[in-house]
Formats: sequence, structure tokens, C-alpha cells
Amino acid sequence: MDDLLNRSRAAVWHPCTQMKQLEAAPPLAIARGEGAWLIDTDGRRYLDAISSWWVNLFGHCNPRINAAIIDQLGKIEHVMLAGATHEPVVDLSERLAKLTGLGHAFYGSDGSSATEIALKMSAHFWRNSGQPEKNGFISLKNGYHGETLGALSVTDIPLFKDTYAPLLRHSVQVPTPDARLAEPGETAEAYALRCAAALEAHLAEHAATTAAFIVEPLVQGAAGMAIYHPTYLKRARDLCTQYRVHLIADEIAVGFGRTGTMFACEQANIRPDFICLSKGITGGYLPLSAVLATDDVYAAFYGNATARGFLHSHSYTGNPLACRAALAVLDIFEHDQVIAANRVKSIEFTGILSEVAAHPRVRHFRHLGMIWAFDVADATAGFSTRFHQAALAQGVFLRPIGRTVYAMPPYVTSADEMRGLADVVLACLDTPAI
Ligand SMILES: *Cc1c(COP(=O)(O)O)cnc(C)c1O
Repeated sequence: MDDLLNRSRAAVWHPCTQMKQLEAAPPLAIARGEGAWLIDTDGRRYLDAISSWWVNLFGHCNPRINAAIIDQLGKIEHVMLAGATHEPVVDLSERLAKLTGLGHAFYGSDGSSATEIALKMSAHFWRNSGQPEKNGFISLKNGYHGETLGALSVTDIPLFKDTYAPLLRHSVQVPTPDARLAEPGETAEAYALRCAAALEAHLAEHAATTAAFIVEPLVQGAAGMAIYHPTYLKRARDLCTQYRVHLIADEIAVGFGRTGTMFACEQANIRPDFICLSKGITGGYLPLSAVLATDDVYAAFYGNATARGFLHSHSYTGNPLACRAALAVLDIFEHDQVIAANRVKSIEFTGILSEVAAHPRVRHFRHLGMIWAFDVADATAGFSTRFHQAALAQGVFLRPIGRTVYAMPPYVTSADEMRGLADVVLACLDTPAI
């Protein structure tokens, strides 16, 4: 195991990591996975409580997803999607259209590329519609939409953004409806409406130069699982329609059941102009993302002129193996009635975490669907690393964001496994030095 860690340090540049810190805190050397568990090269087991960066839905080495990929391997592993098509990508596009109420699925390889696609498509729509000056973007304060340059331009996390600021295009951030920011006595809904008023004030002045408003519906993940009231999305939808600005729903993290409905937008009963999907789409198996859009958007690109078309491409667009994994995921959702089953599970897990919620160090305990989060009142510098390591030593893989501890377990996690997680979190909270 030590040998593997040394070789990894020397050969692999790990993401979101100061490599020098890996000397003191080496990465886990994972040999296998099994359900909600990661197993290292020495056979130690860790509960994957954040679903491998929010991507895993039905556990590691899920037999049904494995079988779908193996079946596809015997047919065709990949073919380019310009000038060719294949059954998995057509099936998946049809099924995603049925689920989202949007269509014309355009595929990328990861979440950031989906953001890039949606932003480019929106601006190109306005250009094709004779309004090229509508090319600005709005996003929420503390929003996260990925880290490639276009996506980073609408991301608002200083740690990721500040260094690259000179490379980025200007965008505008409007106040976040994050319920934690409500005034004392103000409801989450009242605060959401106050934030929507700020969005309206911005649109009233700048709609003529704005292409789209991009949001993470209901939960701002990278901001620290900031949850907000669905009323905000309802108002945002109305305002975007009124001011003729696209609404882009970045459901990359919240899609596929994470917030308790298949897509978070359903809880506000709205249809965005674009939806970005990735992460859970393949159950955490293979990189794949998709952007679906309205018929109106699609129609603005349809015509005889080549330059009117959406001229964007990635080599692995619509990869058949990834599409088969995604189809297997949708089959599991249907066959096991996952959304309904998770509703029961979610209530049970919240009960299991009640002692955590009541812990004196815990503030803003919050929960939506299969996401639980809280802030630690007295967290000092280095809290997140100390908490991560202490939990790891007790067999739970958690990665707090600043002072926010969150769990986002695979849907196959059992009540017993959740009890184990609650015990470890309590033990960490009971250690004042963490
Ligand atoms: C993770 C994430 C992205 C970026 O996806 P990558 O696959 O990491 O590029 C974009 N938006 C949201 C909301 C995300 O959580």
C-alpha cells in the first residue's frame, strides 16, 4: 500500500489538492468497492458517505449496472456521434426527454462541459434570434457550476475562482436564497422572495444584455449544501419568462433523486429552458453529461446555414458504454421505485441523525431528500481536514466543506450503515480538538 501511495504522489496530480499536504495525509489506496463501501489495499473498509463526490447512486460494483456495461462491451464500445448514431444514445435521449419535459439531448463528458454547452447554446440562441447583445450571464452568490473557464466564470467560490480571475469572462452574481441567511424571525420563503426581488431588480435593468440565469435548483452543493425554498425557483422562472432571459437548471449534483424528486425543479413545479445533467446520471460509473433544451431553443438553430447550427463537440460525446450505464440506472429507478423508497429511507435516516442534530456544536442542521448537512459552530482553521481524518480512522469517508459537515450517501445505504455513520459523526463532534 505504501508503495502505491508513493507512486501515486509521484505520478498523479490529484484534484483539488495541495500535493505537499499528501505527505501528511496520504490518499486512500482503494482496491475495490462493494455497495456503499470502499475497500483499501489492506482490506480496510470505509463507508462512502459522500458517494464518491456525489456521483454514486446504487453502490459500487452494482451487478445490474455492471451487466449492462458488459453487454454493451460485446457490441460497440464507442463510435463518434457526428455522422453516426446508436441505440443506447437514442434510448437514453428519449427517456431523459420523457423525464425532464425537455428534449434534444446534447452530450458532454462531465458536468463542466454541460455548463459550457448550456451557456454557449443560450448565447448562440440569442445571436440566431437577432439579439447578439444578449450574451451576459447571471448566477447565484456562492454558486458552483464547474471549473473550466466558462463554467468558472459563473461559479462564485473564491477558493476556486480568484486565482484565475484574469482568465474569466465577467458575470453577475445575485443574492443567494440560502435559508441560513434569513434574518432572525424571517422564514426561508420570505427570504427567498426577498432574494427574488433582487433578481428582478437586476433583470429590469440588464435583461437586454443578459442571455441566461444559471442556478443549482434547491441546493447549492459546493457552497456547503446550502438549501433554499422552492418559491425562489418559481419566481425566477416567472421573472426569466417576463424579461426574456433563459433559465438554466444545473441539476448536475441534485438530479436523479438526490433532493427527493427525480429532478429538483419538480419541487417548484417549473420547467427550465435548459437542464444540465451529469454526476449520478451513470450511477457514478462513467463520465457523461447531457444538456436538454426546449423546442424553442432547438428551433432557433434549425436551418440551412451551417453556422446557425450548434457547432460544439467532444470526442466521447454520447459514449455507448456510458449511455448503457445511464439506461441501467433509469431501469433501477423504475423497477425498484427508488424515489418512493427513498422517501421512506430519508425520514428514517433523519431520525437516526436526530442526536447529531441536537448536538450542542451543531448549527443549521438541514436535510432534503438524500442530503444531510450541518455547520459546526466552533470550527477553527483546519477543521475540515481534522474531521475528515478522524472519521476515516473510524471507517467513514466524509469531506466537510469548511465548517459544514454533510452526508450524501448512496441510495443503497442501509439504516444500520447510517447508524454507524451517526455514531462516528457524534464521536468526532465529542472530540473538542477536532
Ligand atoms: C460537480 C458539479 C459541476 C461540475 O461537474 P464536473 O463533472 O466536476 O465537471 C457543475 N455543477 C454542479 C452543481 C456540480 O455539483
